[in-house]
Order: sequence, then C-alpha cells, then structure tokens
Amino acid sequence: MPIIPMRTLLDHAAENDYGVAAFNVNNMEQIQAIMTAASDTESPVIVQASRGARGYSNDNYLRHLMLAAAELNPNIPIAMHQDHGNSPATCKSAIELGFTSVMMDGSLEEDGKTPASWDYNVSVTKQVVEMAHARGVTVEAELGCLGGIEDGQGAGLSEEEAQNHLTDPEEAGEFVRQTGCDALAVAIGTSHGAYKFKKKPTGQVLRMDVIREIHKRMPNCHMVMHGSSSVPQELIDIINSFGGEIPETYGVPVEDIQEGIKHGVRKINVDTDNRLAMTGAVRKALAEKPEEFDLRYYLKPARAAMVEVVKARMISFGQAGHAGGVPDRSLAELKTFYSASPA
Ligand SMILES: [Zn+2]
Repeated sequence: MPIIPMRTLLDHAAENDYGVAAFNVNNMEQIQAIMTAASDTESPVIVQASRGARGYSNDNYLRHLMLAAAELNPNIPIAMHQDHGNSPATCKSAIELGFTSVMMDGSLEEDGKTPASWDYNVSVTKQVVEMAHARGVTVEAELGCLGGIEDGQGAGLSEEEAQNHLTDPEEAGEFVRQTGCDALAVAIGTSHGAYKFKKKPTGQVLRMDVIREIHKRMPNCHMVMHGSSSVPQELIDIINSFGGEIPETYGVPVEDIQEGIKHGVRKINVDTDNRLAMTGAVRKALAEKPEEFDLRYYLKPARAAMVEVVKARMISFGQAGHAGGVPDRSLAELKTFYSASPA
C-alpha cells in the first residue's frame, strides 16, 4: 500500500475504536525499528518528522527513508506527517515533499515559543486547511499549550504553568467549526520530553476528564495527545546503571492513554520512550565492550530496543492487527471528499 492520507487512517481508527501511535523519525535505524514492529504486529502506522528532524537528516534523505519503508512493506498503511509545523510555509514545503499530513501548530507564534492569540491560531490553521485539503492532505492543529520544549518548539511551561494553558472544551468545538481541521492536539497537562511529572500523575494533573468534555464538543474531529511517552522506569534504570544521569521523572501511564482512546483520542505522539530505549542500549553496549568502535555493534541493539517499545505501544493502543483493514485511499480521493464537504 502506498503512503496514505492520515485522515483515512484516523477515520478507520475511530470506526474501530483504536488509537494510532505516531513515532518520530530522524534516521534510518528509527524507521527500520518502526517498520519491523508494524510488520510483526500487522499495524498501520504514522511516521512523523519534526522541523528539527528535517534539518538534522535533510529533507531528501528523510523522504527517501519513508519511501523505502513503503516500498519494503507493501501491506502496511503508512501516513507521513509533519510534526509541529510553525508556519504555513513549513506546511507547504512538507506537502511538496510528499507528506500526506501536516500539523499547523498555531497555538504558538512562528517563533515556536510565544503562546499565540486565538485569532492568529484560527487564521494560520484555516490558511493551511485550505491549502492542504485542496491536495487531499490532512491537517492537525493545536489549541492550548503543553509544558516543556520539543525540538526547539514549545513555550517552555513548567508542569504547574501548563495547568493554566489547558484546552478549553467549548473553545475546541468552536475552533474546529471555524477552521475545518481534521485532528486537534489538546493540552490536558502533559509536557514534551522526559520530565513530564515529578510524581506519578493523578487526575488533578493529568486531566483525562477534559478529554471527555472535548470529545463531546467535536465528535467528528480526531483528538491527538502530544507528549504521551510513558517514560518507563526500567528504561531510565538501564541508562542510569551505565553512566547516565536521568533524574526521577514520570510519564503518561499507558492505562490513561487507553482511557483517552475510549473517548476520542486517535493519534498518540510517542518519541521520548524511543529515545530512552535507544540511548540505554547504546550506553550498555559501549560499557560492556569499551574496546568496540564499530557503530553497528551499538546501533543494532539500539534499534532492537526501539522495536520492543514500538511493538508494546502498538499492542496497547489497539492498532495491532488492523493493517489489512485500512482502506487504500489516494490523496486525489480525499481531495474529492473535502470538496464535497467544505469546512
Ligand atoms: Zn508535540
């Protein structure tokens, strides 16, 4: 199956009550890990690239890595997504590169740091929706602000400050009506990066109740959870027992994500857990054989460690086993769909 529009995959997930993890790709080992896990569990996948990833690996290398993934896995539906586009220009360049989905993060201004006004967010999101839907490309937007910073994108809010920037359910419904976006990233107390919560999150800091309220007000728009790594203690232990220094920290429990999936969450961004798994494996390999300098010696276990995390998420979110059921829609078909139901 070629690379498909993300909307097609999220619609299928909604019809069949599952969630889809979106994993970030920066290099060959990561995309190989994702595709091995997808193939082993028969999962459809979302692979996404941030602006930082596009800069790190170069657009052309990245694009061909994704095309290679599709070529080698004809039975796996793949949606190719731009994570945290900071401007319509970034989204446009992703669309021209062949991405089938873009995120216009207008919750922040173009600098990727300053929380933006409602009017700015509606205006840039609408602009991207018009441009993307005319080509059959999916649009994710964001309302509210998460804590932390990811790849230079983020207001840098602390766990406490993020509580003051949660997505307002009434505003979410209105935002979707005004912009026509396909998916909306919501702020419910999570943060980007590994340092999400100082202790195991309770319902007061990880506001799953807000998810339920938002879902009621935008039943036809898919909800996205960012900053949703679970930060497993065993991965931190591996890093720290081989020279790392990761302080005590907690992520989003998988059970909370599963609860979100019951209430309209369809896309779950997971990056930190993969970073932790790969870093731990590299540290362990190098510590065990300090005389070794063949990069394959430590990248192989790093890749294998990421396969395990990705598989576990695919199974917990329910996307495992659904690869064969996702309809094979082209961007042209989605273009027709959008023009028949204008925002
Ligand atoms: Zn994010």
